[in-house]
Order: sequence, then C-alpha cells, then structure tokens
Amino acid sequence: MVFYILDFTAELENLTNLQQRGGCSDPNYTYYFKVKCENCGEISQKETCVVLSESVPLPNGRGTANLVQKCKLCGREGTIQMVPGHGEPLTIERSQAGIRAKLMVFDCRGFEPVNFSFENGWKAESVSIPGF
Ligand SMILES: [Zn+2]
Repeated sequence: MVFYILDFTAELENLTNLQQRGGCSDPNYTYYFKVKCENCGEISQKETCVVLSESVPLPNGRGTANLVQKCKLCGREGTIQMVPGHGEPLTIERSQAGIRAKLMVFDCRGFEPVNFSFENGWKAESVSIPGF
C-alpha cells in the first residue's frame, strides 16, 4: 500500500481558512481525479470520484474501500481508501509562507491518483479589515 497526500495552496486575497465546505473532514466532499495503473501505466480516461461516506465491498470480501476499479487496459484491480483526519484549512499565514495545506490522505493499492481537479464545494472566511 502507498499513501498519497493531496495538498494544495492558493493565493488568498482578503480570505483565510479556505477548506472543503463541510470542513476538512467533510464526509460528503467529492474528490475527482484520474488513476494511473501501477501495473501497466495506463491513465484512466474518465475521472474517478471518491467520497468518504461512500464505500464498496472489496472483491475478496474482506472489508470495504472508497473505490474499487479495474484498469481498462490490463484488467488489474486497484483500490483506494481515504484516510480522514489529516486535513487542514489553508490559512492566510500558510498561503503567504508558501506552505501547502493537506486536504486528504489516500491509501492506494494498484493505482496512483493523478490530475486532481478542483470542483465546487469550498468555503473561506474573509479577513477582518481594520477600520471596517
Ligand atoms: Zn493496467
């Protein structure tokens, strides 16, 4: 198994605490990305989406994962399990210091997540401006 940490940064203008709408561990936030097969290197054509609150049974019957998918080219199966509890909001201090904020950790077997795409579902707080 390999753990992948998805992190991000942004230039915040009068904003702070940029994070998923329901907070860093929002169980209903959807992550969209493509997966690269570790066996043959094929990258899926379609984006995959995973949500913490949705799991599917593993083919071997032992437990569940947030994603079970087969490589279209070589047929090998891979799984992705999300590991919550590591997310953090992007604060203005982090943004200015060039420190990336962690979004989510993915425990991947057989696949490597690539091309994460940002979708809707974000919230931020505005900076209080002195004098207003
Ligand atoms: Zn493959």
